[in-house]
Amino acid sequence: MGIEPIKTAIKIDYSKTPYEHAGVHNRWHPAIPFASTVKPGEVFHVECFDWTGGQVGNNDSADDLRSLDLNGIHFLSGPIGVEGAEPGDVLVVEIQDIQPFKDKPWGYTGILDKEHGGGFLDTHFPDAAKAVWDFEGIFASSRHIPHVKFPGLIHPGILGTMPSYELLDKWNAREGALAAENPDRLVARLPQEKGTYAGQSISPENFAQVAKYGVRTVPPREHGGNADIKNLSRGSKSFLPVFVKGAGLSVGDLHFSQGDGEISFCGAIEMAGIITLKTSIIKNGVKDLALNTPIFLPGPVENHYGPSRYLTFEGISVDEHGKQHFLDQGVAFKQACLQLIEYFKQFGYSGEQIYLLLSAAPVQQHIASIVDIPNSCSTIGIPADIFDFDIMPREGKIEKKDMGTWGK
Ligand code: ZN
Repeated sequence: MGIEPIKTAIKIDYSKTPYEHAGVHNRWHPAIPFASTVKPGEVFHVECFDWTGGQVGNNDSADDLRSLDLNGIHFLSGPIGVEGAEPGDVLVVEIQDIQPFKDKPWGYTGILDKEHGGGFLDTHFPDAAKAVWDFEGIFASSRHIPHVKFPGLIHPGILGTMPSYELLDKWNAREGALAAENPDRLVARLPQEKGTYAGQSISPENFAQVAKYGVRTVPPREHGGNADIKNLSRGSKSFLPVFVKGAGLSVGDLHFSQGDGEISFCGAIEMAGIITLKTSIIKNGVKDLALNTPIFLPGPVENHYGPSRYLTFEGISVDEHGKQHFLDQGVAFKQACLQLIEYFKQFGYSGEQIYLLLSAAPVQQHIASIVDIPNSCSTIGIPADIFDFDIMPREGKIEKKDMGTWGK
């Protein structure tokens, strides 16, 4: 008699490395065996490492980012088989809850140095930096970015299904071609044996296949993956195409909060924790819904910062050197971010502090226009009420605040 406890489909033991876990992997490949199986309609927990597998500490130095081993990222929990899911179906994944581990009520936002992949503004901020965030219930605040506090729109950066062999070949072909066209710069991370992990129960033959052909977890693809969508929060529903029998659902890269764009790359409030999921299946949904990439419905839990309290900065597609670009949204968005950073420096913040804040806080990015040749316009808005002082435009010179002895 009584209520069955909610099953934990994947468990994490922090006294061990990710490479000692049965239900952890860091490549997408159909030969990776399912670590657990669930039934449609069943509610289950999945425990997750942070994206680096525990390489970053709760301290005041960015040295752990400077020595970050990126060969193993991202450490995902899964794959989880869903009974009855067949190729061509759509897997509906409902996020019921996400929580940090009880004994890890903290997360971090990082700027990675260029050697470690940099970020959206790496020409302006080439060196590593880190802000640690403390969680108090739904709120985050940071000793490294004073005068700021906001509720987390908590979500997974990565949610995806396993590719078929056919789809895997397609991904490797197109990403390999892009890399071949750009031999002088890093435009795609291709399969590599170094750092590959595919769980504990894989055969040596299959492991060799994963090491050679398993795609990296960095980009989002047709199966979902590392989409880094801040609105995939509690109560959201994702509709993911299924490519293999059982779907092979994996999840990870949990974020306590993130701004649109996740611009500093290690850019959300990265954390380890527990996600609670429930799945259902839409038979033949890929064809019936014409689904080539995932769709989702945001959940009903959001912050209530009014739209008229978002101080919003505009950028146009003329870069910081004065060069005209043609309708380039990336250039326009960058200019909006740089304009916002300059504005907040007037209050005493360092550029790094605001770059980190833009990545972590619930900022909203929009494409304003993409037709008015030669300039497209992009906007970024930051909620004024996350600050404990008045940030609104005013007349006269702004008095700088003490923003701490913030080291790198
Ligand atoms: Zn992340």
